[in-house]
Amino acid sequence: MGIIRSILLATSEKRWLREQVTRLWVVRRTVSRFMPGETLEDALAAACVLRENGLGTVFTYLGENVADSTEAARVTEHYLTVLDRLRERGLQTEISVKLTHLGLELDPALAETNLARLIEHAGPKSVVWIDMESSHYVEATLALYRRARRAYPNVGVCIQAYLYRTGEDLESLIRLGAAVRLVKGAYREPPEIAFPRKRDVDENFLALSRRLLSQEARRAGVRAAIATHDPKLI
Ligand SMILES: Cc1cc2nc3c(=O)[nH]c(=O)nc-3n(C[C@H](O)[C@H](O)[C@H](O)COP(=O)(O)OP(=O)(O)OC[C@H]3O[C@@H](n4cnc5c(N)ncnc54)[C@H](O)[C@@H]3O)c2cc1C
Repeated sequence: MGIIRSILLATSEKRWLREQVTRLWVVRRTVSRFMPGETLEDALAAACVLRENGLGTVFTYLGENVADSTEAARVTEHYLTVLDRLRERGLQTEISVKLTHLGLELDPALAETNLARLIEHAGPKSVVWIDMESSHYVEATLALYRRARRAYPNVGVCIQAYLYRTGEDLESLIRLGAAVRLVKGAYREPPEIAFPRKRDVDENFLALSRRLLSQEARRAGVRAAIATHDPKLI
């Protein structure tokens, strides 16, 4: 798991490496547990099968940190196409995007404009989720989320249980009546800002889940999404 996690982390930031690695048979076989395929068609087919089993789905386009605004525009266009294809198939699938994939690192205003296009295109019934990336981007991601949330009801954000700050972030998101997806966190973070021990991350995840599902959060209009594979926590 550690090796695959490292490969996924490294490849998500480097397009060439990602393309080479996904061609390797051994990697294909190992990650097939996590990824249904490499094309939009693969994802749509998987979503249709899951829908038959009563399961909802979220799509993401693997990658982050684009080099220029043209690439950010290309990623945005890809997501717009995805939303069209979902609508054609009558799928309730939502999308989840990384802000650095939409240009955050180049210019926050660029990412904001691209995000707004997606939110508007998704329509009021479909939440556009914002992934949470490494700690370097947490502040900028939450700031952009808050601005987007003021303009649109159908936008959600991910928060990570491994960060010490997340309890406070969750409180402010509850006050906003936000759509919040809770995860453990997938990046390597230093012990100054994140729980180094899995046991503490799991404990915090449980405490934050309870808060996310509390009466107060519900009354505030929070939409709670709990994202984990951990059978014990589920
Ligand atoms: C829908 C979704 C969205 C996410 N979005 C983000 C994001 O925006 N930002 C971010 O940093 N991270 C994100 N993550 C990743 C997350 O942070 C964790 O790295 C990842 O979910 C692994 O942690 P875990 O909660 O599944 O538990 P772990 O502690 O990794 O695993 C606990 C136990 O669960 C079981 N398990 C683990 N994986 C699987 C599996 N695939 N199938 C069956 N059993 C399994 C095993 O028994 C394992 O021992 C997302 C995850 C999901 C599911």
